[in-house]
Amino acid sequence: MPATPLPNATILGYPRLGRRRELKRAIESYWKGNTSEAELTATARELRAATRARLVELGLPAQGGAVPESFSFYDQVLDATIALGAIPGRFSAVTGSDLEITFALARGDKDHQPLEMTKWFDTNYHYSVPEIDEQTAFAANPAALVTQLQEAAEQGIDSRPVLVGPVTYLLLAKAADGAAEGFSPISRLDEVVAVYAELLQSLAAAGAGWVQLDEPALVSDSLSVPRAEVLALVERAYAVLGAVEPRPQILITAPYGNSADALTRLGALPVEAVQADLVRGTLPADALASGALASAFDGTQLVAGVVDGRNIWRTDLRAAFAQLTALTEAGLHVVVGTSNSLQHVPHDVTDESKLDARLQSWLAFADQKVEQVATLAQGLTEGAEAIEALLAEVDRVLQDRAAAPGVRVSDVRDRAASVTSDDRNRADEQARRDAQQALGIPDLATTTIGSFPQTGEIRKARAAFTRGEIDQEAYDGFLRDEIARVIRLQEEIGLDVLVHGEAERNDMVQYFAELLDGFAVTEHGWVQSYGTRATRPSILWGDVSRPAPMTVAWSAYAQSLTEQRVKGMLTGPVTILAWSFVRDDQPLGDTAAQVALALRDEIDDLVAAGIGIVQVDEPALRELLPLDADRQSDYLDWSVGAFRLATGGAAPEVQIHTHLCYSEFGEIIDAVDGLDADVTSIEAARSRMDVVEPLGDHGYSRGIGPGVYDIHSPRVPSVEEQTELIKIAAERIPGKQLWVNPDCGLKTRGYEETVASLTNLVQAAKAVRGA
Ligand code: GLN
Ligand code: ZN
Repeated sequence: MPATPLPNATILGYPRLGRRRELKRAIESYWKGNTSEAELTATARELRAATRARLVELGLPAQGGAVPESFSFYDQVLDATIALGAIPGRFSAVTGSDLEITFALARGDKDHQPLEMTKWFDTNYHYSVPEIDEQTAFAANPAALVTQLQEAAEQGIDSRPVLVGPVTYLLLAKAADGAAEGFSPISRLDEVVAVYAELLQSLAAAGAGWVQLDEPALVSDSLSVPRAEVLALVERAYAVLGAVEPRPQILITAPYGNSADALTRLGALPVEAVQADLVRGTLPADALASGALASAFDGTQLVAGVVDGRNIWRTDLRAAFAQLTALTEAGLHVVVGTSNSLQHVPHDVTDESKLDARLQSWLAFADQKVEQVATLAQGLTEGAEAIEALLAEVDRVLQDRAAAPGVRVSDVRDRAASVTSDDRNRADEQARRDAQQALGIPDLATTTIGSFPQTGEIRKARAAFTRGEIDQEAYDGFLRDEIARVIRLQEEIGLDVLVHGEAERNDMVQYFAELLDGFAVTEHGWVQSYGTRATRPSILWGDVSRPAPMTVAWSAYAQSLTEQRVKGMLTGPVTILAWSFVRDDQPLGDTAAQVALALRDEIDDLVAAGIGIVQVDEPALRELLPLDADRQSDYLDWSVGAFRLATGGAAPEVQIHTHLCYSEFGEIIDAVDGLDADVTSIEAARSRMDVVEPLGDHGYSRGIGPGVYDIHSPRVPSVEEQTELIKIAAERIPGKQLWVNPDCGLKTRGYEETVASLTNLVQAAKAVRGA
């Protein structure tokens, strides 16, 4: 055991925006210039104090480093950039406080593009990508870490600073634009480790007993270096950090996946604790049985991540306790922990006043998970009898959940069981192309991805309707006027395939969740997606079915207003799952098939109502791809299968579109092909059509709409610029297959730039057609 061991209960991190998103409001008010930096930092300090106090109240020991310091003003990777002094050279003119620099990097300013953002492992959280080159000058800046530690001490809490570890930090960084060809950030590991060493010394001087260094790179097969090499890099880095004197005791974490293959070697590192995600991952069975794991962990604590930090279900405490007991009996020094930071779940299920009480009793948000950790730890300390009543209560709840009406619906199950492979196969491609001639769509057809700007008026009308200030009839009338306006506008601009604009949708997943059986929505269940942005994922708790058509009235109304084709617009099964909290009592593929069948019926109804083109969006297809290479083919089977089940009932003359929100799909190109959509739109403007090349090489034969207009900024791309992009695409893929569209939906844009950009887009398509 370490000299001063961690208490046997901890978590890896806690939600940061506040129970009522107080931090979001405080930061946004500061950005608008309504409050000062001093006021913002004061609010943040109060929030951190409240968080620590709450964690202790929920059962984490105040002493010994059990309480993590996981606060961030924006993003934990960006915080590491500041702590390492790794400000990208292109920001060298930016001066000010650490907070001002943080926001400048995160958000950019008139002279600077912000740092790029990308997904944090396989979560829906986005981090700010560090930019490193040969010149990046690292310099330890422990200020924020030390401040938080001191605040905690004043509160009588001995907390544990948290920092992204050196290997993960560099593997998530990208080479800065000016870096030499072939430069890789990880080549600077030794220098970065030296800066971490300084940070550790400063923390020790400030009285830190423990520090947590997050190394989720250990569980990923999707990084620039193979997993075995990640482990070797971790060994190299921590051999150095372990020898630093003086330093806090070190906890290395490996959340978001399976570290079983690495665990024995991690246990042998000169650190005092190692965490393993035991929800997504496992333990090395042989090493556990032979005692090799216990001897590797001889002087090291194992933080067993048995409480799921990615989902909102109550933990099966009895099963978790049995697993913990087995580890203790195998000779390991066990600390009860979470699989990952609780930043991915909402605060507190007891805040929900409108959830069905029975459903509510099955759920655990962050606060409940902390209590579960504390309960399990109490059992380890005091013996099973001490927590037997709580274990029995959870047994009862789980039985109740398994037997509750709606969780298993025989009609839904019978239908899913009778699906055959025919249901997933449409007519062959050529037959479909022939049949779809009747749609009368020109070459280089112009269209949009679905949403038009969500204006202040739309939001106001929705809020008024939600509060009961206007009735259904008035709200529907408002939406119909909005649709009519958007249709007329598209006709004026001269687009070929029109959309209804999605004004009725608050969110592309929640809209469907509210209309499908088997889902619930929360009031306060916010989860940070990046910076001050948060989403409120729906809860998919039961068997999914569609009590009534969901989009048909809107699409049919739009079609009734125009001679042009209107595209129906649905969110695909994989995306609906990816952006919800999903049930954990059956394979994801089974859940996806149920959602797919509901969408399949919706497509039938759309077609019966005269809609000839239906788009099924799957922006999350890439995001759910498991980090573990071993699990990827199973995932691609069921996810592609679900999309095909949703669309497989469409007759040959119905044109199925899909939209994928990104351009990096080299890894999943076969899957994209496997979706068998007639037309696929993708993001391409920022990469100047780079993505079209691999599709061409792959022999992709269906329709493809590489975005020619980057919708992420209000900038209006000129006719020439868009013409140029269409021409580049046409060199890489036959013009007959090409569609012309923006990169993504327009809901975050304003009307002025939207109209100007789409007008130019139509002109550009005409120019290339005429050429
Ligand atoms: N149809 C959706 C829209 O246009 C697609 C959004 C997305 O891919 N994220 O907004
Ligand atoms: Zn998109």
